[in-house]
Amino acid sequence: MNSRLLESIAGEYGTPVYVYDESKIISQYNRLKNAFGKQEVKLHYAMKALSNINVLKTLKDQGAGLDAVSIEEVYLGLRAGFEPEEIMYTPNGVAFSEIEEAVALGVMINIDNLSVLEHFGMVFGSLVPVCIRINPHILAGGHANISVGHIDSKFGISIHQLRHIQRIVEHYKLHIVGLHMHTGSDIVDADVFLQGADLLYQAAGYFPELKFMDFGSGFKVAYKEGDFVTPIEEIGTKIGESFQNFCKEYGRELELWFEPGKFLVSESGVLLVSVNVVKQTTSTVFLGVNSGQNHLIRPMFYNAYHRIENISNPAGQKKLYSVVGYICETDTFGYDRPISEAKVGDVLGIYNAGAYGFSMSNQYNSRLRPAEVYIRDGVPHLIRKRETLDDVIRNEVDLTLSPAYAAKMTE
Ligand SMILES: *Cc1c(COP(=O)(O)O)cnc(C)c1O
Repeated sequence: MNSRLLESIAGEYGTPVYVYDESKIISQYNRLKNAFGKQEVKLHYAMKALSNINVLKTLKDQGAGLDAVSIEEVYLGLRAGFEPEEIMYTPNGVAFSEIEEAVALGVMINIDNLSVLEHFGMVFGSLVPVCIRINPHILAGGHANISVGHIDSKFGISIHQLRHIQRIVEHYKLHIVGLHMHTGSDIVDADVFLQGADLLYQAAGYFPELKFMDFGSGFKVAYKEGDFVTPIEEIGTKIGESFQNFCKEYGRELELWFEPGKFLVSESGVLLVSVNVVKQTTSTVFLGVNSGQNHLIRPMFYNAYHRIENISNPAGQKKLYSVVGYICETDTFGYDRPISEAKVGDVLGIYNAGAYGFSMSNQYNSRLRPAEVYIRDGVPHLIRKRETLDDVIRNEVDLTLSPAYAAKMTE
């Protein structure tokens, strides 16, 4: 995505706007598919990263399945054309009724709690094949909020509770067809995956009817130059080999699944914002932009680094700026960044914003969520309209205008 194209998109659709390059999503998908050599892998896209229907359809066309974490996501996946059996539903802390709803829709359920497993057994017994989410308690590194495999994590059933799982499975004659682990985002070490895999291979001894193993995700991408990234090809080779050895021992060919989110869509996306103010203070120069933590919360929430460039003046002389949002919070996109000299009205690109950007956006300060644009074969298309004030007040009830309120008050 060159600056000229991005500038013309900002001109045509206004800012703030999320722009995604479809070709990057497809190339990341193929890179991951091919990393495993002879070993076939099934990729279930973790749609919480970016759930626009066009992105879902792109990945469906590539042959991906979906990883959904809410019943709403399950419905969005079905709406995008995925078959129920291509969708894995990995809920955490949801009401059992939601799991029953997902079963009725025909999607694969991934259970991450002993009491839910027992409830599932009581209701469905051997009728509905199911997957179990194991917490292998390996340290995945990364930010504390996105590391979910550690001992205190709320996710998964502890690997130390295998005997207990086994008793529930035997009692209710549960049909366990998959084992799953997801140790969190930002894994930089192939050995973390291998350790987790080894633990799952051992656990497999308890479950003779497995059809697949799902090693989750956590593939890290580069946010700035020189960043550690997950060595995908190394993981592919090592896991591919170890999985084939495991299948031999297990006595059957199982499917190997992963659930990448960030890896597939992060680098495809850029958030375009406009400079509202250039503010010189005693200590720094702020660029205040027409966006904030309401549109891209990762820098504030995870301390994530997102590269920022002035696409209106790409060749300009670099100056140090702190780029901040317009929300009444300290919503800093980046401190002391060398950025080409900027003036009011310039368009800045905040890169690597495809994953957990729009999907985590909100209406704080009664601000509107941005538009989304998809670049397909080099041509930009609007795939989500910018919100209007009507979207902000749509469900609000003004009591002074409410007949229900008037009726109650005169009772
Ligand atoms: C969020 C999530 C993923 C995707 O994680 P990324 O770091 O975006 O690749 C995969 N599986 C589950 C169960 C998740 O919750």
